[in-house]
Amino acid sequence: MTIVLDGKSLAKSTEEDIANRVKSLKEKRDITPVLATILVGSDPASATYVQMKGNACKRVGMDSIKIELSETTTTDELLEEINKLNENPNIHGILLQHPVPSQIDERKCFDAIDLSKDVDGVTCLGFGNMSMGEKAYGSCTPQGIMRLIKHHQIQVEGKNAVVVGRSPILGKPMAMMLLNENATVTICHSRTQDLESIVKQADIIVGAVGIPQFIKSSWIKDDAVVIDAGYHPQKCGDIELTDIKDRSLAYTPVPGGVGPMTINTLILQTLESCENS
Ligand code: NAP
Repeated sequence: MTIVLDGKSLAKSTEEDIANRVKSLKEKRDITPVLATILVGSDPASATYVQMKGNACKRVGMDSIKIELSETTTTDELLEEINKLNENPNIHGILLQHPVPSQIDERKCFDAIDLSKDVDGVTCLGFGNMSMGEKAYGSCTPQGIMRLIKHHQIQVEGKNAVVVGRSPILGKPMAMMLLNENATVTICHSRTQDLESIVKQADIIVGAVGIPQFIKSSWIKDDAVVIDAGYHPQKCGDIELTDIKDRSLAYTPVPGGVGPMTINTLILQTLESCENS
């Protein structure tokens, strides 16, 4: 029977556990985990994501502070804000909402986040540590996907995993996480030739492309594990899921699969940062 990798329900049950741990921190150490979010500019989708992250904090009894900066913010101004948050002992996690306006050196700003507060897993150092199998907060979407896979005891070791997409926040860390679990990993991108034949080899396929239903159902073999990180306004992901529900070993529904795990991982890692502080 096909396993539905139901991120919505796993995120909900984990929230209960997170809320209990937050309560215990308050009672035993008189501290509350705090996530600082930074939003630069007025992109409505980014504003919604930041709002959703603040709401998730509230649901589990954590605090969040929202820093909103203008569209014309410079790299130096943003770095100054990040440094203030780095130095504030009451802040346990820092999230810089991606993307930032084009005049800003996003990589430089991500890397300015103190490693101990990099709960969104965006720094090069954090990526390096994670890739080497050292302790690190993983980038939230791929980390959420790995939590979902592990929760459902999906075998990764020895499997052919194909990740379509190589972005720093999703495709690349996803590939390293699967490699760390002993999958044989192929990373595909916009210059990949004959994508179809590579996807056809996949025991585990991860769609992280950003194009609606780009990966066709006919490319995916029976009994594959199908992970769709995309979510588009037409309520579909990056993979054509038409008959996948009936013939895959497991799949993430869209919506309700990967999406809820991303925010859940962010608040979980903020809690862990606070517990470790
Ligand atoms: P991105 O930064 O735009 O990266 C897209 C990747 O897809 C790039 O590596 C690109 O290759 C590759 N690509 C583009 N066209 C391709 C083609 N024709 N063939 C093969 N590969 C191609 O996007 P992202 O931020 O990683 O996001 C990917 C998807 O995940 C989006 O649908 C996004 O909405 C979703 N997402 C979801 C969450 C969540 O919380 N659920 C979080 C983040 C992202 P090149 O490197 O060669 O350009």
